[in-house]
Amino acid sequence: MGILFNRMSVACLFALVLTACGGGDDVASISPLTVDPYGVSTFDSAALSASLMALPIETLSSAEQDSLAFMREEEKLAHDVYTQLDTLWSNQTRVFVNIAKSEATHTEAIRQLLVRYNLTDPSATRVAGQYQSITLQALYTQLVATGTPSLIEALKVGATIEEIDMIDINKALLGIDNQDIVLVYQNLLKGSRNHLRAFVSALTNQGVTYAPQYMTPVDYQTIISTAIER
Ligand code: ZN
Ligand code: ZN
Repeated sequence: MGILFNRMSVACLFALVLTACGGGDDVASISPLTVDPYGVSTFDSAALSASLMALPIETLSSAEQDSLAFMREEEKLAHDVYTQLDTLWSNQTRVFVNIAKSEATHTEAIRQLLVRYNLTDPSATRVAGQYQSITLQALYTQLVATGTPSLIEALKVGATIEEIDMIDINKALLGIDNQDIVLVYQNLLKGSRNHLRAFVSALTNQGVTYAPQYMTPVDYQTIISTAIER
C-alpha cells in the first residue's frame, strides 16, 4: 500500500463519516460490529474472523506493534472500569454492564490481531485492573476513584473513557497502514462514538450536560449531534 492509500484512509477516518469511505470493497462493506438500539456496539467474532481472513498479513512496523499492545490494554481498561462501576451503580443503570460486555469484545478483537501477528499479549496473565502500561495503570486507579462518589460522576467517567479511546486510536492510525488493523480500529472508533452517545444520553436523562474533557468541542459536537451508527 502506497502513501496515497494511507493519506486517503486517514482523511476518511478523520471525516468521521457514517458511510464507508472509498466504497466498493466487499470486506469494508460487511460490518463485524453489531449495534443495539442504545448504541452498545459489539464485535461479532465470526464476522470479524471472516473479515480478517480476507485481508493480507502485512509487515508490521514498530508503531503498529506498540499500538496493538497498548490498545489491547486500553480496551481492557474500558471493560474493567465499567465492570467496577457497575458493581457500584447496577441498581440504577444497565449502561455499565451492557457496555462492559461490548468492551470485552473490543479487547478480544485486538487479541485476535496479536495472535494473527504472533505478538505477546500484555493481558494474557493480567486480571481486571492490572496493566503492563504504567500510564493505563494510573488511569484505571484515577477513573475508578472519580466514578465512585456518584452515578453522575460515574457516567462522566464513561464518556471520558470513550473520548480518550478515540483520541488514542486516531493518533495511532496516523502510523498504521495494515488493512486488518485499520479495519479493527475503524470499528473501535465507531463503537466509541456510539458509546459516547450512550453515556451522554444517560447524563442528559440525569439532567446533566456533559462537557468534553479531551476532545475539541467541534469533534465532540459532530458526534453528539448525529444518530447512533448502525
Ligand atoms: Zn471500546
Ligand atoms: Zn466503548
